[in-house]
Amino acid sequence: MIEIKKSPVQKIIFRDKNYLIKRDDLLDSRFSGNKARKLHYFLNYDFNNFTKIISHGSAQSNAMYSLSELAKIKGVGFEYYVDHIAEYLKQNPHGNYKHALENGMKIQEKHFPKNLKDEELFIPEGGHFVEAEFGLKILADELKEIDADIFLPSGTGTTALFLQKHLKQKVYTCACVGDETYLKKQFLELESDEKYHPSILTLDKKYHFGKLYREFFEIWIELKNETKIEFDLLYDPQGWMTLLKHQSKFKKEILYIHQGGLIGNESMLLRYKRKFSEVNR
Ligand SMILES: *Cc1c(COP(=O)(O)O)cnc(C)c1O
Repeated sequence: MIEIKKSPVQKIIFRDKNYLIKRDDLLDSRFSGNKARKLHYFLNYDFNNFTKIISHGSAQSNAMYSLSELAKIKGVGFEYYVDHIAEYLKQNPHGNYKHALENGMKIQEKHFPKNLKDEELFIPEGGHFVEAEFGLKILADELKEIDADIFLPSGTGTTALFLQKHLKQKVYTCACVGDETYLKKQFLELESDEKYHPSILTLDKKYHFGKLYREFFEIWIELKNETKIEFDLLYDPQGWMTLLKHQSKFKKEILYIHQGGLIGNESMLLRYKRKFSEVNR
């Protein structure tokens, strides 16, 4: 049985400025990051009436891998539905896909079933659901004594929203999936009172989720060299670029939340290496 322990807060200097980093990537070697926080509720959940977990999303998602870990911990099956699996990935399994398969995931290339059986537990894409509040409140409790502005990049916005709901400090975020309008809608689905919504900061250029950008890779390498911390390649580059652009808005020291996702870097790095041949680790 995995217990979620408190994660450390580390001081770093990046481009001559001090930051605090909440190392949620270090929660556990396998069940870590914000997906572990969002799924925490189910660690102590009685699965006696369930034989499997059902979910859907992309074939390389961090949520998919974390669900495969949860299913393994709880001793139930895991069925995952995707629109498409790239031929290259099928032939050369790697990253989240490979590790989830090793955990026993059954992946299906079709739309997820509308009618579930009683013994099937459905978890929405990316863990965008109210049950996530349980684990995120615990994360908020670990941060509440720290006098800092909080920053984290968003996908579904679930993590940022529930943190703001349980913290007095201001929580800032940016939209990595979709735009600001999409992210606001995501917040509203979980919390109708806008006073609990995080502040969304933007960049001038529009970035598309999952696409490769030279400037993303460059800031990721710079962070790694200067801070000795490996950040995630999908959300963190946009997160740091947004944070640096809006530096003057922050009145206090910034606490950046490292939300894990490092197994996903395996596939992102392969893609970056194929796209920019000069890229070497
Ligand atoms: C899933 C994920 C996010 C986005 O989390 P949301 O709660 O969907 O906003 C950010 N960073 C990493 C590393 C993730 O795996």
